[in-house]
Amino acid sequence: MAVNTLKYPKVQNFINGEFTRNGHKAMDVHSPLDGSVLSTLPLSSNKDLEQAVAAAQKAFPAWSALTIKERVQIFYRYRTLVEQNLDELAALVSEENGKTIGEATAEVAKSIELTEFACSLPQIITGEILEVSQGVECRTTHAPLGVVACISPFNFPHMVPHWTVPNAIALGNCVILKPSELVPLSAVRMAEMLKEAGLPDGVFNIVHGDKEIVEAICDHPAIEAVSFVGSTRVAKIVYKRATANLKRCVALGGAKNHLLVLPDAHVEMTATNIAASMSGCAGQRCMAASAMVGVGKIDHIVARLCEVARDIKVGESLGSVISKEAKERIERYITEAEAAGAKVLVDGRNATVAGKEGGYYVGTTIIDYVTPDMAIAKEEVFGPVLAIIRSDDLDEAIAIENSSNYGNAAAVFTQSGGLARYVMERASAGMIGVNIGVPVPREPFSFGGWNESKFGVGDITGKSSLAFWSKIKKTTTKWNPDAFTNWMS
Ligand code: NAD
Repeated sequence: MAVNTLKYPKVQNFINGEFTRNGHKAMDVHSPLDGSVLSTLPLSSNKDLEQAVAAAQKAFPAWSALTIKERVQIFYRYRTLVEQNLDELAALVSEENGKTIGEATAEVAKSIELTEFACSLPQIITGEILEVSQGVECRTTHAPLGVVACISPFNFPHMVPHWTVPNAIALGNCVILKPSELVPLSAVRMAEMLKEAGLPDGVFNIVHGDKEIVEAICDHPAIEAVSFVGSTRVAKIVYKRATANLKRCVALGGAKNHLLVLPDAHVEMTATNIAASMSGCAGQRCMAASAMVGVGKIDHIVARLCEVARDIKVGESLGSVISKEAKERIERYITEAEAAGAKVLVDGRNATVAGKEGGYYVGTTIIDYVTPDMAIAKEEVFGPVLAIIRSDDLDEAIAIENSSNYGNAAAVFTQSGGLARYVMERASAGMIGVNIGVPVPREPFSFGGWNESKFGVGDITGKSSLAFWSKIKKTTTKWNPDAFTNWMS
């Protein structure tokens, strides 16, 4: 690919506040909307990581010596920059990831909310103090870890790095980000804006690349902690490798989210919520509705759901999936389920968009009478596809949900508070929705699943993440020599 045909400048690593040409191989960056080549990115090596680690180590003493109130000033300025450039950032997210402009705008808005949470940290990380014995005080303070790394997936190029980077930096760490090689462009803008907001050189660094650089991060002795978001297959690899090298690790994996629909559910609210959940971001959300378990007589709800799903138009309110391979994988799941006896009610296979024939599109697809043993009922499809499994009673539906290896989200649709609570208490997932198809806990609540949807202790955002990005120091003091003493003092 000749340089002058690229829409964006070649992507470069960001080390010590500068974009640098490195990486021992290069790879094209495509827009899944039309298949065009947007840029190229470097596939970094261990040598590149060494430079990033050295820059982060050099920046750490001065950065961590600031008070947290001083550190978060950067994020007040950064937040304003993101807001001022929201339209441009959303267009970039849409271009590299394939989601619609509306979805991309919501993604960047969520990045703003995550940045605001980092700004609020001085208010919530105040530590504790108690007179534990006569004249003796014990107090806790949060200390940063040092150099930490964040590895992100393709499906939220702007938001997922904001799950971790602002909190980690605000708490005094220096960060190395490894974005998905499929969507590196939003991270470039993040680096530019953090620099413009005044972040000192070396506090935030980016190394681009694939498997090789992730393995180097997991092995590097100077990296104290690794956060990972991606598929369960890779989450397991990263979690094992990072912890075997004695690092802290939290690794979020894939999902298979079950939505239990009861016959008394509000028809319109249920149909619109489920259609939005399964089709939003072309089903490429770890919180997407993937399996609907209908309890008893729910044909009236399925009928309305299909009407709503048919109104979601590819190329308008439904974006592309990430790649040709993803499109083929998703369509294969549909075809195999059909061959196994499931009924395709809404068929999104072979979708195209006029003028964007090189793009990768799958229309909304609803498949009824899927049985729990089918691959489409058990595996993560990661496309705009909803498998409907029929069950006779609520306990059977809960058992189907509980049998999943995953456990990111689950939801129940009903107008009965008692039945909703029955499901809330028994669902085996970290995030539960009642009459909500995408039950993302917003800040300051934390985000994280159960089972094979997350490895490690604690969640990745919100208050729960603060323990991950810091270590607690317990200091006990006594100043008065005349104070009463006992065995504890
Ligand atoms: P992925 O696992 O393929 O890639 C994630 C990251 O791992 C990328 O940066 C990639 O370069 C790297 N990687 C890929 N293969 C590797 C290997 N063999 N060894 C080491 N590193 C490797 O995931 P993806 O396709 O980019 O993202 C989609 C997946 O992410 C879905 O499964 C989705 O459910 C999941 N996801 C989960 C959450 C959550 O909160 N649980 C959020 C977003 C996405």
